[in-house]
This record gives sequence, C-alpha cells and structure tokens, in this order.
Amino acid sequence: MTLASVMRKRLFINNEWRDGEGSKTLDVVNPATEEIVAEVASADRADVDAAVRAARAALNGPWSKMSARDRGRLLWRVGDALMERADEIARLETLHNGKPIFESRQIEIPAAAECFQYYAGWADKLHGETIPVRGEYLAYTLREPVGVIAAIVPWNFPLLLTAWKVAPALACGNTVIIKPASQTPLTAIALAEIAAEIGVPPGVLNVITGPGSTVGQMLVEHPGIDKIAFTGDTATGKGIMRGAAETLKKITLELGGKSPNIVFADADLDAAIRGATTGIFYGKGEVCAAGSRLLVDKAVKHEFVDKVAARAKKMVPGDPMDPKTRLGAVASRKQLETDLRYIEVAKKEGAELVAGGARADIGTGKGYFLQPTIFDGVTPDMTIAREEIFGPVLAAIEFGDVDEAIARANDSTYGLAAAVWTRDIKKAHHVARCLQAGTVWINTYNVYDTAAPFGGYKQSGFGREMSVHALEHYTQLKTVWVDLNRA
Ligand code: NAD
Repeated sequence: MTLASVMRKRLFINNEWRDGEGSKTLDVVNPATEEIVAEVASADRADVDAAVRAARAALNGPWSKMSARDRGRLLWRVGDALMERADEIARLETLHNGKPIFESRQIEIPAAAECFQYYAGWADKLHGETIPVRGEYLAYTLREPVGVIAAIVPWNFPLLLTAWKVAPALACGNTVIIKPASQTPLTAIALAEIAAEIGVPPGVLNVITGPGSTVGQMLVEHPGIDKIAFTGDTATGKGIMRGAAETLKKITLELGGKSPNIVFADADLDAAIRGATTGIFYGKGEVCAAGSRLLVDKAVKHEFVDKVAARAKKMVPGDPMDPKTRLGAVASRKQLETDLRYIEVAKKEGAELVAGGARADIGTGKGYFLQPTIFDGVTPDMTIAREEIFGPVLAAIEFGDVDEAIARANDSTYGLAAAVWTRDIKKAHHVARCLQAGTVWINTYNVYDTAAPFGGYKQSGFGREMSVHALEHYTQLKTVWVDLNRA
C-alpha cells in the first residue's frame, strides 16, 4: 500500500469485499494536507440488508457453534495482528484523523490491541448460575449473546472506539456490523482485513461505510439488528434513541462532555499545570473526556492560568506524521470552523483570550491546524463554559471554596469525566463523591485501562465500555426452569 496514491476501499460483508450496490463513494481527506487520500464505497440499503443477513446467518450458524475458548483465541490473534501491523495502521489513523503519529502508534493502536486481548480472556469465563428457588425445581440462567450488533463509531479515536465495542461483542458471541465515521473509515477497514486473514468466520465482522444520516440511520431502524452501540455527539445519540424505539433495540450511548478539571490552591501546582495542559490538548481536544473547563481556586488562579498559557504557547502544531509532533491537525474543515466559531463567540461574550485563538500554519499553507487556545475570565453562563467544542480550546473559570467548586463542576448537562487536584486526601475523596461524572481522576487526567469502566452520567450517555461491566451490555440472561418431579 502506498500512502501517496489514493487508496480505494470497499465494503466488507460476509468476508467479501464489494462495491456499494449504488456504486456511490465517499472521499477521505487528510486534514494535515487537505488532500483526498482514499475513496471508500458508500453503502446503500441493499448493502445494509446484505450485511444484516450475513451477520444473522453467522450468529445462527458457525459462530454459535464455535467454542467460547476458540472465540477467545481468535480475539487474541486479532490483538496480535494489530500489533504486527501497528506501524501501518497507526499511519492510517494519523492520515485520516490528523492526530500525531506518536499518539496513534504509541497509545491508540496498542490500546486497541490490548482491548481485544482483554476480552479474549473473558470469552470462556462467561456463564450463568443456578438459583436456590422454592419447590422441586432446578432453575438456572444462561448468559446468551444479544444478537447482531451495529457499532456506530465517531472520528476521534476511530480504531480504539471500534475495539471498545467489537471486542466485548465478539467475546460474548454476538456478530457485528461496524459503521465507522465517514471521515475516518480506514482503520476499521484494516481491522476487517485482519479478521479475514486470521479466519474469523464470514459474517461475524462486517464493515459498511457511508454517511451517518443515511447508512447509520438505516442500521438504527433495521429490524434485523438487536443492539446499537454508539459513540458520538449527544444530539445524534438522542436521534438514535428515538430511531431505535420503534424496534425496541437495546442501545448504549457514549456521548459528549464538558469535563471540569478542578485545581485547589493546595495541589501540587506544577503537576496540575501539566494535567490541565494535556487534559485539554491531548488529541487536539477532540476527546470526549477532554478537561475543557478548568476550574481554579481564586487564590492561585492568576498565576496558574498564566503558566498553563505559557505552556500552550510553546505547543506548536506540526506535521502529524513527524514522530516529534505532539499537536496535530484538527480532524476536518468542519471541526476547524466549529472551533473558530466558538472562539469568536467567547470573545464577543467577554472572555479574555490568553493563548492562541487563530488558525496555525505549519509552513505548508495547507491543513486544518489551530493554535492551542485558552480563555481566562470565563463565567459559568458563557457559551464556551456550557457547550462542548471538541477542540483545543480551554475555558478557565474561578471558584472560591469547595462547595462552589463542586456546584460549578456539576452545573452542566454533561457528566462524562472530571478531575480534582489537591494534596488534601479527605477533600479529594469528598469532591470525587460529589461530582456527577462517570469517571473522576484525582491528581491525574486522561488515564484509562481496559479493565476500568468508562461511560457517562447525565446527558453524556448510559452504559459502560471496557471492563467486566461492558459484558452486561452484550449479553442477555435466559432463565430455565426444570420440574424435577417429571421425566
Ligand atoms: P457524530 O454523532 O456526528 O457521529 C458519530 C457516528 O454516528 C458517525 O459514524 C456518524 O456517521 C454516525 N451518525 C451520524 N448521524 C447518524 C444518524 N442519524 N444515525 C446513525 N448514525 C449516525 O459524532 P462525531 O462528530 O463523529 O464525534 C464527536 C462526538 O463524539 C463528540 O460529541 C464527542 O464528545 C463524542 N464522543 C464521545 C465519547 C464517549 O466515550 N463518551 C468518545 C468519543 C467521542
């Protein structure tokens, strides 16, 4: 594969590569160069139907007959194969998303591989239970797969968020149709290539590409699909919930965030400065759990924000393919325009721009680069304190005491993540309990592990990904009663 030429990629249905029935395609753009790097088939209703048929046939056929241990072995091999091809897959991830190759190669692809191997271990450890019921009965439960799962994935961590859904789904014996984001389909397609190579049976893992508004919607409404595992925008998630209601599909939703990063005056301030910076600028701020609201104790706010701003000014966006780059290109023109629009709104509403605020040029005159941006003097009612921007834009807000910090942190429709920085262990745990968020970090930020659950409170969604808890969402319980007095 040469990255210089335009790649052509097709749909992956029943272990076959096919063009879409309607012969439509969509272009994949490298956000660092604005060049088209791939042309990908765009599915039609007939393709969606074919994928559902293949997934259903596999579910009822070879996949259900494979032992749980062999399923686990296959998942383990997916993880191995991802690492064997990690250099190439990391380049694809950076090519379509614009994130630094350092992040793709060192963090995201290994985390995706680890996710497959974590769930490989679970495949043969899922079982029902016997229940001590009243009377002469044997009652037991079977833990069975939910069925055909549609995994609808956003563009910010294209492979990792696919792995968070596909790995537990397959470990539990489901079959999957992956619908990657239109902007970033290349690594899900690479995953399909791996599945075919290592002998995942036909129909177990399918990838269909195309716009969310058509192909995504068809999956949501399709009567042949049993569950939607979705990560994306909160507004899209609400639409999915409505669309899935007609067929009463099971759904899990991982949605947006506006996560507070709370710094008390008694914190290790140097560590907190680093945490505040990476909390918002890692992944260009296109991270659902980004610490986009920096809540700082009045006593140290001025000095603290100055220091974070000084660090931000040193973070210069660069060529994402350069291993030294730590800040890449915003993922799309649309997202860049969104970021710039919020920056203008913040200025109009009276926030004080203390770093960045403009498009950046890495010397090529091309690419969607944005300076890391910080606003000070943000008040809780301002738009940038309330709405998710999904870019490298930080809003600094001050607070007076612990209660005000908690109240301001919780003053959001979102509840995905939060952090608290303090040396006072009692205060740290008190605040952690009071925060309405699915994840709370104490004296750190953006730490994840496949063994630890992740998901939202409030309008950041429901259900949990990763960990043992995700298995609940990919299985259903059947209770079996046996009358012991009858033959
Ligand atoms: P998006 O909602 O626009 O798209 C996500 C996916 O849904 C894409 O595959 C898209 O094609 C598809 N889609 C769009 N409209 C659809 C419809 N009507 N029916 C079915 N599918 C549809 O989100 P995005 O812009 O790709 O991603 C950014 C959002 O994702 C942010 O809000 C971010 O916070 C959120 N996010 C959340 C988490 C989390 O774990 N909570 C993780 C990453 C991203």
